[in-house]
This record gives sequence, C-alpha cells and structure tokens, in this order.
Amino acid sequence: MSDKITLIIPCYNEEDTLPFMEKELEKVMASFEDVSFEVILIDNCSEDSTLSYMKKLHERNSIYQYISFSRNFGKDSSMYAGLKASTGDYVAILDADLQDPPEFLKEMYETVRSGEYDCVAARRGDRQGEPWLRSVLAKAFYKLMAMISDYEIVDGARDFRLMSRQMVDAIISLEESERFSKGIFSWVGFKTKWISFSNRERVAGDTKLPMKSAFSYALRGIVAFSTFPLVAVSWIGFFTFFAAIIYTLYVIIHQLVMHEATPGYPSMMCVILFGFGLTFMILGIIGQYLAQMYLEIKNRPRYIIKESSIR
Ligand code: UDP
Ligand code: MG
Repeated sequence: MSDKITLIIPCYNEEDTLPFMEKELEKVMASFEDVSFEVILIDNCSEDSTLSYMKKLHERNSIYQYISFSRNFGKDSSMYAGLKASTGDYVAILDADLQDPPEFLKEMYETVRSGEYDCVAARRGDRQGEPWLRSVLAKAFYKLMAMISDYEIVDGARDFRLMSRQMVDAIISLEESERFSKGIFSWVGFKTKWISFSNRERVAGDTKLPMKSAFSYALRGIVAFSTFPLVAVSWIGFFTFFAAIIYTLYVIIHQLVMHEATPGYPSMMCVILFGFGLTFMILGIIGQYLAQMYLEIKNRPRYIIKESSIR
C-alpha cells in the first residue's frame, strides 16, 4: 500500500496567503509518486474569509479538510488538533505563509521513510528580515532555555517538521493544556535530523504573532519546560535562612562579649533575621513541593517505547 502524508496548516487570518499556499502545495504534491495526501487546515477563528476559502478548497478537492475553532486558541492548540485528526503514515506541520518552504517536504519524507530518522525538522540558519529587537530577544530566550531546561530547544527551530506516525502518537499522548510544542517535540525524544535554510519573508499579510504574544510564548516555554524558577526560589530561601542564623549568632556573641550594642538592637535583630530567614525557608520548601506537583499534574507518560519484542 502506498504511503499517506498528512499536512497540517494552522491559519489565523490567512486569506491573503492561502491562495499562494494552495498553488505551492499542488506543485509539491504532484512531484510525489505513489503517495496520497491529506491536508488539514486549522482555522483559529479568523476574522477574515479564511474559513470560507477552506470550505471552497474542501468542496473542490476532498483531500483538503478543515477544522475551525470557536475562538483563537493559538497555534500550539491548532497543531495539537491537527495531529489528533491526522490519519497519515507521516505527518508534517507547516505555516500558511510559505515561511516553511513546502518544497522541502519531499526530502523530509524520503529521509524519514528510509527509517534512519523519525523526524526531519527545519531551522532557520539566519534571522534575515526580522526586526533586530525581536532577533536579539529571541536569541536571549533560546540561550536561557538552554541553561535552565533539560530539553533541547534549538535556536531558530521552526515548528516545520515531518514526523513518523509513531512520533506523532507520542506527541498526542502528552495532553497538557498549556502546550509549548517546541519543548514537546524535544521531550518525546526520537531521532531528529535538522535541516537549515535561510529565513524567508511571509508571502503576504503580516505576522500574526505580535511582540506581546511572543513574550507570553517565551514565558510559557520557560514555565512549561523548566521548574528552574521555583527551584531557584527555594535555594534562595535555604540560603537566606542559614545566612540569617549565622548573623543572629554573631549578633548574640558580639553582644555577650562586647556589651556595646544599643539596648534592644540584638533582640530585635534576632527576631527579624530569624523570622525572615524562616519565612524564606518555608517558601523554599513549598517551592520544592510545588515544582514536583507541577510535573505530576502534567501527567506526562513515564516513558515512550520506540521498539520492543513484547507486543
Ligand atoms: N497562527 C495561528 N494562530 C495564531 C497565530 C498564528 O494559527 O494565533 C498561524 C499563522 O496563520 C501562521 C502560523 O501560525 O500559519 C505562524 O504565524 P506567523 O507567520 O504570524 O508567525 P511568525 O512566522 O511571524 O512567527
Ligand atoms: Mg510566519
């Protein structure tokens, strides 16, 4: 039986880009031999005619399917919906604006099909054409993630990738609602081949991810894939407590030996330092439990099996 490839395309107000996308896809799909396609378009409750364009596509050709959300749930939720609905043996995710060049799909498919890799993912080798402030902040974010997260979040990585069915099923098994897909792709493991290409400008329209959402995206990434902030707070708590104890002892001994402090000072210092230290330490302990609880609540699978002789 021939392979089936699912293409997932999240869209938010993409009426200007979809016609270009369609043309490009037709070209790319025609270049495949003996492969069937399914294109799942996800409409994030667009305010323009994106949905009616999708409906027209579907009427014309049933390989185009669409899912339309009741409001904008964000790109990560769109990708999740697409992955859940996908039926292909291989699944690719690409942006509607042609910043993820569909012409790479063939090479990606052949690499994954050969069995050596489970996934081929794309990254931008440069950030040409992007506002400088955004580039600087994005780079800083990826550096920070590399330091505080146990999972590899590649700088310049896009969500553009083609994956095996097995990897897609693993991704779907992570049901957390605050989805940071770049982290999830890395968390599930599997062998990924990275291909690099130079940045392309979107074919039409404007970015749908303003700076404000880019910030909340970064914050979501940090919180979803690192408990470092909580753990750091708890270490600060323990450190403060011990520093407070030592200084309290110093104040007491100094007073016993020198008898020169202003009346009331030693006792007041003892109360303040001990009180503050204790409070910080308690916060620290709570932080440790919270970090653990946070991971438990996500209820991620304990492991993902790639191969086994047991059925
Ligand atoms: N997108 C979406 N929901 C959103 C924002 C964006 O589905 O709330 C889609 C958008 O239509 C596009 C892709 O996600 O297909 C990437 O968005 P965009 O090109 O605006 O982001 P950028 O490339 O500027 O980071
Ligand atoms: Mg884009």
